[in-house]
Amino acid sequence: MFLVDTHCHLDFPEFDHDRDEVIRRAHLEGVERIINIGSSLEGSRRSVELAQKYDSLYATVGIHPHEADHIVQGSADSIKKLARQNKVVAIGEIGLDYFKQFSSPKNQLPLFLSLLKVAKELDLPIVIHSRDAKEDILRILKEAMPIKAVVHCFSGDSKFLEECLDLGFLISFTCNVTYKKADNLRELLKIIPLRSLLLETDAPYLSPEGFRGKRNEPAQVRLLAEFVANLKKVELEEIANSTTENAKKFFNLI
Ligand SMILES: [Zn+2]
Repeated sequence: MFLVDTHCHLDFPEFDHDRDEVIRRAHLEGVERIINIGSSLEGSRRSVELAQKYDSLYATVGIHPHEADHIVQGSADSIKKLARQNKVVAIGEIGLDYFKQFSSPKNQLPLFLSLLKVAKELDLPIVIHSRDAKEDILRILKEAMPIKAVVHCFSGDSKFLEECLDLGFLISFTCNVTYKKADNLRELLKIIPLRSLLLETDAPYLSPEGFRGKRNEPAQVRLLAEFVANLKKVELEEIANSTTENAKKFFNLI
């Protein structure tokens, strides 16, 4: 079994006391590659450091829309410098969040545009965070085409899904698809072709059903892969192979 956790935050303090163990447990479950996602300038620096330290770990660098109200000048340039480091495989997570609005949309937009520009300049794929912002996300990304994108922790309707697939974007699902109330997500997951699907934990967040309230970790990609195999009525091996191939190609992994 060879699986990839394409989105987690092992740079967070939640993992400070047992990071080695967490990565070891992931390997035991067949999670052989981990993409650690930068969600702030400081987090992106840590993400790059972790990628240098652990063979199986790769980094993305980016600034989450939640941070948009607290951006210091020159942040996009700092991200660009970090993006040139070894084992940095994408810009992200970047995007728009009109649901929580921890930062004002007015500040989220220029931040997103500046980091999208960095991705274009360096010819790197992007990891998109989109909540309740599909109109703006699609409008901006259509203008930025051609670009390689994955829409992480997919939420939305079948129309948004269809438009993302039409643009050639990958769709990534977290363990929240296992939640009792997630019928809507499961219906979408059923119709996504395997060639467009990635798996992720978004750890430490979104532990699967049965583990809710606990810290999530990359090892749980195994459980997610089994759940997806069941739902799509295909062999676990096929889910592992296709999602791993997609991840390797998208992030240009070795
Ligand atoms: Zn995330």
